[in-house]
Amino acid sequence: MASRRKTKRNQSAQLSEPSGLAIELRDIRRVYGRGDAAVHALRGVTLALPRGSFTAVMGPSGSGKSTFLQCAAGLDRPTSGEVLLGGEPITKLSENRLTQLRRSRIGFVFQSFNLLPSLTVQQNVLLPLRLAGERPDRRRAAALLAQVGLEGHGRRRPGQLSGGQQQRVAIARALITDPEVIFADEPTGALDTGTARDVLGLLRQAVDAAGATVVMVSHDPTAASYADRVLFLADGSLAGELHRPDPQTIADRMVALTAQAGRGGQVSAAA
Ligand code: ADP
Repeated sequence: MASRRKTKRNQSAQLSEPSGLAIELRDIRRVYGRGDAAVHALRGVTLALPRGSFTAVMGPSGSGKSTFLQCAAGLDRPTSGEVLLGGEPITKLSENRLTQLRRSRIGFVFQSFNLLPSLTVQQNVLLPLRLAGERPDRRRAAALLAQVGLEGHGRRRPGQLSGGQQQRVAIARALITDPEVIFADEPTGALDTGTARDVLGLLRQAVDAAGATVVMVSHDPTAASYADRVLFLADGSLAGELHRPDPQTIADRMVALTAQAGRGGQVSAAA
C-alpha cells in the first residue's frame, strides 16, 4: 500500500522517535465515580506498541477493554498516567488539540462502520482529511478504495453497500491520513465469518504492506489470531499476553480468564 507521509514520517522518526514506538501507555488508571461508588476500570496499565505492529486486546466483559481503547485513543482522559503518541505525551493536551490530533494522527474502525449515509463513499474516505484541514487527495482515496477491493465504488452511498463493503470503506477512511495508530473496536462484530476474514486480512495487510500500527479490541479468538500479539485484560489489569497464537490457544486463555473473573479471583500476570 502506498504511504503518503512515509518519507516525512521516517525522517522525523529518526530525529525524535528513536524508540520506534507508535504508542505507549504508562501506568494508566481510570476510575469512574467516587467514594464507595468508585469503579476502577483500569488499575495501572503499562505497555508499549512498536510501529508496524498488530495488537489485539481481549478480556472478559467488564475487564476494561472499552476504557482502555477510549484512553489510548484520546477519546477519554485517564484519571492518572500518561499516553504517548509517537513519543509525544497527549494526556494533558487541551480538548481542541486532542481533537486535532485524533483527526490527523489516529484512525478509527468501529463495529458499526460509522459512515455518514448522506456522503458518497469517496467523500466518507476523504472526511478525515477535510476535518484535519488538509487537501482532499482524491487520487489517494481512489487508490485506497482499490486496495480494499472497492475500485469504482467511490460515487455510491454507504446504504448501497453490504456490511463488509462498508467496513472496507471505513478501513480506507482510517488509512487516508496515514495515522500513527489505527484503533479498531470489534471491527468484525457485525459481519459474517467469511466477510470478517476479508476485513481482518485487510487490517493485516495494512500492517504488513503499509507499516500501519493496529490496535484491535475484540472478543473473538479468530479475529485476535490475526494479530502479532494478543494482550489480555482482567479486572482492569494486564493479565498476560500471547505472541502469534492460534485461535484455540486464545479461546482457552479466555475461558480461564472468564472463569477467574466469575469467581472474582485475582488473575496472575503469568496466567
Ligand atoms: P469491557 O469493555 O471490557 O466490557 P469496560 O471498559 O466497558 O469493559 O468497563 C470496565 C468497568 O468500568 C466495568 O466495571 C464497567 O461497568 C465500568 N464502567 C465503564 N464505563 C463506565 C462509566 N461511564 N461509569 C461507570 N462505570 C463504568
